[in-house]
Amino acid sequence: MDSKTSVRTYGLYINGEWHEKSVNNDVFNKYTKEVMARTAVAEEEDVNLAVKYAKESLKTPFSPYDRYTVLLKAATALRARQDEIGEILAGEVGKPLAECKGEVERAALTLEVSAEEAKRIHGEGIPVESAPGSEQRQAFTRRFPIGVVAAITPFNAPLNLMCHKVGPALAAGNSVVLKPAQTTPVSTLIFIDIMAEAGLPKGRLNLITGSGSTVGEWLLKNQDVNMITFTGSPSVGKFIRERAGLRKVALELGNNSATIVHKDADLEKSATLAAQKSFNNAGQVCISVQRVYVHEDIYEPFLVKMKEETEKLILGDPMDEATDIGPMIAESEAVRVENWVNEAAGQGATVETGGKRDGAFYQPTILTNVNDDMKVCRQEIFGPVVVVSTYRSEDDVIARVNDSEFGLQAGLFTNDLAFTMKAINEIHVGGLIINDTSGYRVDHMPYGGVKNSGTGKEGPRYAIEEMTEEKIIVFNG
Ligand code: NDP
Repeated sequence: MDSKTSVRTYGLYINGEWHEKSVNNDVFNKYTKEVMARTAVAEEEDVNLAVKYAKESLKTPFSPYDRYTVLLKAATALRARQDEIGEILAGEVGKPLAECKGEVERAALTLEVSAEEAKRIHGEGIPVESAPGSEQRQAFTRRFPIGVVAAITPFNAPLNLMCHKVGPALAAGNSVVLKPAQTTPVSTLIFIDIMAEAGLPKGRLNLITGSGSTVGEWLLKNQDVNMITFTGSPSVGKFIRERAGLRKVALELGNNSATIVHKDADLEKSATLAAQKSFNNAGQVCISVQRVYVHEDIYEPFLVKMKEETEKLILGDPMDEATDIGPMIAESEAVRVENWVNEAAGQGATVETGGKRDGAFYQPTILTNVNDDMKVCRQEIFGPVVVVSTYRSEDDVIARVNDSEFGLQAGLFTNDLAFTMKAINEIHVGGLIINDTSGYRVDHMPYGGVKNSGTGKEGPRYAIEEMTEEKIIVFNG
């Protein structure tokens, strides 16, 4: 701790101990720009040491019931510190305080569900006796931990998305080497102490900090890492897959999420939810609504209502309860969003509301008169911008939703059963949300995309399947 500034310097956490380093990074409050913590910059030998101890820790038994107890204690401790950790998240991410406290609660729930799953990891009976010549045999499967899991996490929901990896990995009996995003590591660093206080055996969870292009890559290079679980951008996801070789990889990547509002939809509900779910965390959410397709019969009143709801949103200090939208993670990101919107406007799009930047703040923005090939439609904008277009036929809108390299989630507002069934069959995504936007998620559901949105599912039960290996045992009678 630096006594003059009360800014804590965090070391690396390896084999149950903090290790200070001589080179450290500053972590900034994204609104006040003050330094809120310092983090160690790991070297390659630190990464290798973390992996070594993670591997060694697997030799000491850690029973499913003990895993349950530790994870549950950690969930309780997170809840008890919800206000404090919520404020830290608001500082490091720049996300409004209410959303941050909500993230702490969700992270606690993710750990709680992981704890419960630790007690019910099971295989299945396999009817080998039904094969001719095997009548005297019996078989069943069991799931075993995969070993050392490297977890690399993004900046936008750093606590809960980290718990989605660490919770299931530990519940499954693995050890973890964790690398959080450089810009938002503080809530994760606090979590390390919470896990130690909850009684996690040393070496089961190790933390290394530093940049993805150094520390992340050294982690990928170490062949004692048995699996890599990553949440982040598609370009880094692709790089990780290329480096992983034959090892298992789980990738939770981006999306340019679509939501369809059909002609029979509840206008009030759909427009209000679309406005909310386009701009949460300044649009820096992987299932943030980016493309809204509205049936031409209700386009005008929908747009009026969505604009009205959007214009109510207040930009400001994330710590202020009235604030709906804080700064983006960096001014450079707001500049990127500004450039994409200006490019679309130059190509004929109409800025219905928003469209202005002030430092790292970007106003919630609705664009119309877009074409599907503009960058704001085709790529992941990851900012507070949504495009609203019309459609006439069901076939046309389904084709346009599918005309994307991504496929994480999509939303559909309608009570038309035939259209719903058609959408279930034909929209190519990991999750289709009926009568809500693409932005719906609860933490125990299977969550993960198709196409360039990734491979593998999260949600503790499903992540545990990814993080275990199934072995068949065959008895010859
Ligand atoms: P990045 O891909 O930039 O970073 C994610 C993590 O990967 C960070 O810890 C980063 O380190 C690390 N990293 C960067 N380069 C490498 C590398 N060469 N090797 C290994 N690790 C590396 O993503 P963002 O943090 O910007 O997050 C935004 C993206 O995440 C969006 O595309 C979003 O859609 C996606 N996302 C997906 C979710 C899902 O569940 N599908 C949920 C949330 C976000 P560092 O930044 O410290 O250098």
